[in-house]
Amino acid sequence: MKTALITGGASGIGKACVEKMAREGYGVVIADVNLAGAEALAAQLTAEGLSAMAVHMDVGSEEEVEAGFDKMMETYGSCDLVMSNAGVQIVHPFDEYPFSDWKKMMSIHADGAFLVSRAAFRRMKASGKGGRIVFTGSVQSFVGSKLKEPYNFAKHGVAGLAKAIAREGAEYGIYTYTVCPSYIKTPLVEKQIPEQARDLGITEEEVVKNIMLRDTVDGVFTTVEDVANTLFFLSNDQGALTGQSLRLTHGWAMM
Ligand code: NAD
Repeated sequence: MKTALITGGASGIGKACVEKMAREGYGVVIADVNLAGAEALAAQLTAEGLSAMAVHMDVGSEEEVEAGFDKMMETYGSCDLVMSNAGVQIVHPFDEYPFSDWKKMMSIHADGAFLVSRAAFRRMKASGKGGRIVFTGSVQSFVGSKLKEPYNFAKHGVAGLAKAIAREGAEYGIYTYTVCPSYIKTPLVEKQIPEQARDLGITEEEVVKNIMLRDTVDGVFTTVEDVANTLFFLSNDQGALTGQSLRLTHGWAMM
């Protein structure tokens, strides 16, 4: 059985990716700080006759990341696909951005991407079989947005990390990608709508229309299913796309 570990797998994009890969026959490790949510999803998939397990993982903790991957190897004996996806959003005007919130963002988005991809790389290299590492980037990997300096910094960073790992991983059959969606209505975005309205002094409707969807060609949100289908597509790539960032943006930030 092929296996996948997905961080932030208990909610939103990660959850849809967990469900997709489990239904495609993968044994899936749901790695999340929200252990109860991860366990509930694992139980639901197991009840459907699919294979899934939950692990508590704070992606900013080296010990928890390594322990989660060790559990995956003990249970399934392989590590074929890893999605470094866990993330949060904290918005503030730049001049008021607290250093403590910057550090929180870096712990999850920067340390997390490094620790999770390194843990994956180690196991994929040791197995001799290679594997695929997919980062959840964002349209914010290519553009800049008000109130989101740390997020832009980190999301630009993961695209670069994927390119570097693609070079180093090729000889071991390790391929890397960054999936870059524009806004998707998940809890992470639902939370931002009132926050951005407050910080920018506009209505929630204006946040959606004039900020979130303004630069798309059709005014449409991307969906979690769009990302899950892209992850599955990449799980079959034989290296032609390694190092690439795939933009799921309804025309925002086209190449
Ligand atoms: P979400 O809030 O629905 O889910 C995020 C998950 O990550 C939650 O289950 C949460 O418990 C988990 N998590 C948070 N901190 C963690 C940590 N330290 N360690 C492990 N797990 C942790 O959010 P989402 O919208 O599904 O976002 C997932 C990823 O997609 C994030 O990296 C986000 O930046 C990115 N993204 C989201 C959108 C969007 O519009 N929703 C667009 C582009 C990129």
